[in-house]
Amino acid sequence: MLPTTADIVIIGGGCMGASIAYHLAERSVGKIVLLEREKFLAMGSTGRNAGGVRYQFSTPVNIQLSNYSVDIIQRFQEIFGVSADYHPLGYLFLLTTPDEVELFQKNIAMQQSLGVYDVRFLTPDDISRLAPHVNLEGVLGGSICPRDGTADPYTITQTFATHARNRGAQIETDTNVVGIETQNGRVTRVKTNRGEIETRVVVNCAGPWAAKIGAMVGVEIPIAPLRRQFFNTDEIPEIPRNHPFVIEFSTSLYFHPEATGLIVGMSNHHEIPSETYAIDQAFHLETLERALYRLPLLENARIIRQLAGLYEVTPDAHPILGQARDMQGFFICAGFSGHGFQHSPGAGKVMSEIILDGAPKTIDVSMLDLERFREGRAMIEHNVV
Ligand SMILES: Cc1cc2nc3c(=O)[nH]c(=O)nc-3n(C[C@H](O)[C@H](O)[C@H](O)COP(=O)(O)OP(=O)(O)OC[C@H]3O[C@@H](n4cnc5c(N)ncnc54)[C@H](O)[C@@H]3O)c2cc1C
Repeated sequence: MLPTTADIVIIGGGCMGASIAYHLAERSVGKIVLLEREKFLAMGSTGRNAGGVRYQFSTPVNIQLSNYSVDIIQRFQEIFGVSADYHPLGYLFLLTTPDEVELFQKNIAMQQSLGVYDVRFLTPDDISRLAPHVNLEGVLGGSICPRDGTADPYTITQTFATHARNRGAQIETDTNVVGIETQNGRVTRVKTNRGEIETRVVVNCAGPWAAKIGAMVGVEIPIAPLRRQFFNTDEIPEIPRNHPFVIEFSTSLYFHPEATGLIVGMSNHHEIPSETYAIDQAFHLETLERALYRLPLLENARIIRQLAGLYEVTPDAHPILGQARDMQGFFICAGFSGHGFQHSPGAGKVMSEIILDGAPKTIDVSMLDLERFREGRAMIEHNVV
């Protein structure tokens, strides 16, 4: 049954909502309720993503979120007793212009200075040894961090949710939030299709739909839903299961082993915001053409699935983490711009600190507040796939 009061209401049962519920419940802070409108958890972006985890970002805060989060993902079995299916394949970026080479050399130095000791620059010869079937025409160099790789978003989300429940958090699916009441500039009540919950704290973890939740309390949140799609192939015997996660930086074409085949995707930079999951077949053909150019062996593979999901994109490709200045008790953890799953352990941890202690402690994410956009403090993340 839906409770009538709660200390904290979390909206959204993707990886962020589940991680925050777990990190709050771990500190025994009263009644925590997570609301998800779908029948199951992880039905939004979390259930439609490519599972990539990496240290190779271009801003210190994203690298620090990776340092914390990927470490948890690697030790998931030890911490939670369940494997996160982590595969350290290495993200292998292919660079095709002198500007990209310069940018990545700068980023590598920054990543190393922040403890990513094993990231390195690669010559085309190095790359051909690591990925002999990749066509390296026009490739000037690359970079790799061997601890980048893939993991399972579904297991991680479900595990956070289970451990949150075990510590007393209540998780209600099939529960659509339709409104939030406020009084004198603070949240007071969440309205759903199943009843109302009185509360003084609401956490907006609605991913691509976070702007709609913000509108319920009159807070403008610059997060746009943008369709991204990929396809899976059946087995390509020549490609080993530990083949690197290859990304052509200029086009964002990527492919990596998944099950017995490959996942292949590319971002359509002309995509306009929408909530559609329909496959854009014209863009699928563009992706296929580019993929065949870089990996001619794909010619022998069969496409067994196509999938579209929504990136939750902010103007600077960083998430929004913190309390809205103009609405007391309204917290936001959304807008990870296509690389959120891998940061969900760290995001959950710092959000629990922001909510309970008034400031982040584990990682300084204070610059990722909502107000950065109107105050001109936004900094761009360039390594967006
Ligand atoms: C194609 C694709 C590939 C990706 N690849 C990667 C990758 O390789 N690595 C990576 O780290 N990230 C990747 N991402 C991004 C990643 O999936 C997201 O950043 C992450 O899942 C965001 O999690 P979330 O919990 O914020 O959002 P979501 O998982 O979308 O969860 C939000 C939840 O809120 C619920 N909700 C919305 N409105 C309401 C309401 N009114 N009432 C109740 N519930 C509501 C939704 O149903 C949904 O379940 C990819 C995304 C896509 C689409």
